[in-house]
Amino acid sequence: MTIKSFIPPQRTLMGPGPSDVSPQVLSALARPTVGHLDPSFIGMMDEVKSLLQYAFKTQNTYTLAISAPGSAGMEACFVNLITPEDTVVVCRNGVFGARMIENVQRIGATAVVVDCPWGRAVDPQALEDVLKQTPQARFVAFVHAETSTGALSDAKTLCEIAKKHNCMTIVDAVTSLGGVELRVDDWGIDAVYSGSQKCLSCVPGISPVSFSEQAAEHIKNRKQQVQSWFLDQSLVMDYWAGQGKRSYHHTAPVNSLYALHEALLILQNEGIENSWQRHQQQHDKLALGLADLGLDFIVPKEERLPQLNAVYIPNNIDDAKVRQYLLNEYNLEIGAGLGQFAGEAWRIGLMGYAARNENVVLCLSALKEALT
Ligand code: PLP
Repeated sequence: MTIKSFIPPQRTLMGPGPSDVSPQVLSALARPTVGHLDPSFIGMMDEVKSLLQYAFKTQNTYTLAISAPGSAGMEACFVNLITPEDTVVVCRNGVFGARMIENVQRIGATAVVVDCPWGRAVDPQALEDVLKQTPQARFVAFVHAETSTGALSDAKTLCEIAKKHNCMTIVDAVTSLGGVELRVDDWGIDAVYSGSQKCLSCVPGISPVSFSEQAAEHIKNRKQQVQSWFLDQSLVMDYWAGQGKRSYHHTAPVNSLYALHEALLILQNEGIENSWQRHQQQHDKLALGLADLGLDFIVPKEERLPQLNAVYIPNNIDDAKVRQYLLNEYNLEIGAGLGQFAGEAWRIGLMGYAARNENVVLCLSALKEALT
């Protein structure tokens, strides 16, 4: 068998991620590779840090890009902050809250779960009730934008409640960053992680994270070594603080970081508030069209994510057949249901570069055809 170069099909990505990558970001990826300790590269990394501070709305010194996907950002937050003696209150309203619980349990710590219905935001009162009964808790963790259901939780209120109970907060912003309002400093988020492949519209494989000064102190003062060498932030903190000599820790994914730099620059040039607004406007258009097609949202209107539209699959419609049709006839990818909604829902992403008129029109007309 002769193996040839792999030429992927040209898809339009309107699933739960990865999202469409803009040509500008793809061309940044193809620039010449330099050494990851090259002075030019180090200068670029300083810019990545300040662009991430802009995107997260934070002044945190420890704002960085982990060389691995969102799950590694999640794990980095948990393994660095939590020790086996800790009790962590984790809110679960979908797949990714459940993954947080697994992180806590694998550390050997205690997870106290605030269970909320899938397809709904985390209920602040439920968190408050659990915290009242769990005075030993020192951390609260929740997912801001639950990609498995399309629910947006009120991160500001949840953080306020956590602080009232003297807890540090760990927030999953994988799908929220760039797509909906997120204010790390104003809301009192202590550890936050995201992914490059959602509303930043960059290639997958990088996880932006940020730690508050309190979280960074906690990490520096911990007595037990972090069990993961690769994710141990104490080994890379000086690098990102700009204090230590830039020395080798691991070989950074140089070209992917060019792409992240470009994607963050696009976001900054647009203005993050404008990006939030664009996602909302495109969602409003899509939601109108989906209603015309008789498709019902899983999440109530006021708790909906603009960038992830989860709708019930109508009775007597073959889930896989429709998605296959969109892919074969229109090169259009939408997402299948996940977890409790597997086989019952479609997840239509409007993330980053994909949140634009052409995509909304394409998706609605192709879906209409597939359903008739
Ligand atoms: N958290 C949320 C909310 C996600 O949507 C995802 C991925 O879809 C992750 C975490 C994990 O990110 P990754 O798949 O990049 O590891």
